[in-house]
Amino acid sequence: MGNSQKIRERADAAMLTTYSRFGPVLVEGRGACVRDAEGRDYLDFVAGIAVCALGHANPELCAALAEQAQRLWHVSNLYYSVPQVELAEALTARCFADRVFFCNSGAEANEAAIKLARRYSLSRFNGERYRIVCMEGSFHGRTLGTISATGQEKVRAGFGPLLPGFSFVPFGDIGALRAAITDKTCAVMLEPIVANGGILMPPDGYLAAVRELCNERQLLLVMDEVQVGMGRTGHLFAHQGFGVEPDVMTLAKALGGGLPIGAMLCTEEAAKGLPAGSHASTFGGTPLVCAVARRALEMIAAPEMLEHVRETGDYLLVRLRELASRHPAQVAAVRGRGLICGLELSEPKTRRLMELALEEGLLIDIATERVIRLVPPLIIGRAEVDALISGLDRALPKL
Ligand SMILES: *Cc1c(COP(=O)(O)O)cnc(C)c1O
Repeated sequence: MGNSQKIRERADAAMLTTYSRFGPVLVEGRGACVRDAEGRDYLDFVAGIAVCALGHANPELCAALAEQAQRLWHVSNLYYSVPQVELAEALTARCFADRVFFCNSGAEANEAAIKLARRYSLSRFNGERYRIVCMEGSFHGRTLGTISATGQEKVRAGFGPLLPGFSFVPFGDIGALRAAITDKTCAVMLEPIVANGGILMPPDGYLAAVRELCNERQLLLVMDEVQVGMGRTGHLFAHQGFGVEPDVMTLAKALGGGLPIGAMLCTEEAAKGLPAGSHASTFGGTPLVCAVARRALEMIAAPEMLEHVRETGDYLLVRLRELASRHPAQVAAVRGRGLICGLELSEPKTRRLMELALEEGLLIDIATERVIRLVPPLIIGRAEVDALISGLDRALPKL
């Protein structure tokens, strides 16, 4: 404990205390396991919050990283570079999008989407059409623009005045969305599954109805797939599993296989919103990160991998439902798709359950005070699911 305790004290003294961190000091990882400074192993159902989709220290990603590191790390976007082009082509070949803008995070990708929506509308419909309808409980990032688009008061509080032009409606309520659209609206922005807000699934037909409404009112449909994209739901992109295409999609988290990268993808038409000189990023799409992201994309997009995610996800959901029926006093609901699952507790005790899980050698994450989020590496198998369930079986009665 001595060593870890010192690290914790130094961290709390040297950095802002913006994160309410948990006990372990993590020093290495392999596959779905991480080890702390005391040599204790944990099964990782957080994966850096849906980032390390191919597990820790994946040998193929390590090789891609080492190879590109010898060649070229970074060049300005004043020039062309091969890994960036290859990643852009690999992404557009696999979805609705015709064009990609690279940046470094989910928030930046959503900033790009917001800027694109406003400017596209300005060029196409003239002024005054700048408003974006977002969802209550949504999360789109921590920049001023993206907290303005985020439907959670705890994220917005204290930073006003926020960026004007956002309204919020309950996720899943098509009537409320229709009512919120005015002649000043330019876009609808949503997560196909509301992740941080509690792993809320779209009701049947909802996303198709949103698409129809956007067509009818000539609005851009922006889908934030920062968390649920890149194979998480058992489809390369979540919207593909729901059979509804957006005009704009944002990615980050798992896109770089653990390295920081974000992307905004859009149709040829929507891309007119960001013409030459209108947007930029120094680090966006650096060769080093793109080379790794390209390799990660190939591995995640493989049909066997997506099939594995669907199968393992179904198994996880079945085992979680059994768990829920064994602990009816503690567990209120279970939901998910592929390898993003939520375990809703009867009381706001997710933080306590997270601590109890740590004692069981399990890393699990909090979506809300009542909902545990499970977003393990996509490479986990049934044995890891079984270990999670056994640990939770022991932890839940102690709540
Ligand atoms: C994590 C997340 C973001 C923000 O991504 P950052 O890389 O932290 O800026 C945006 N949207 C969703 C849905 C996310 O899960």
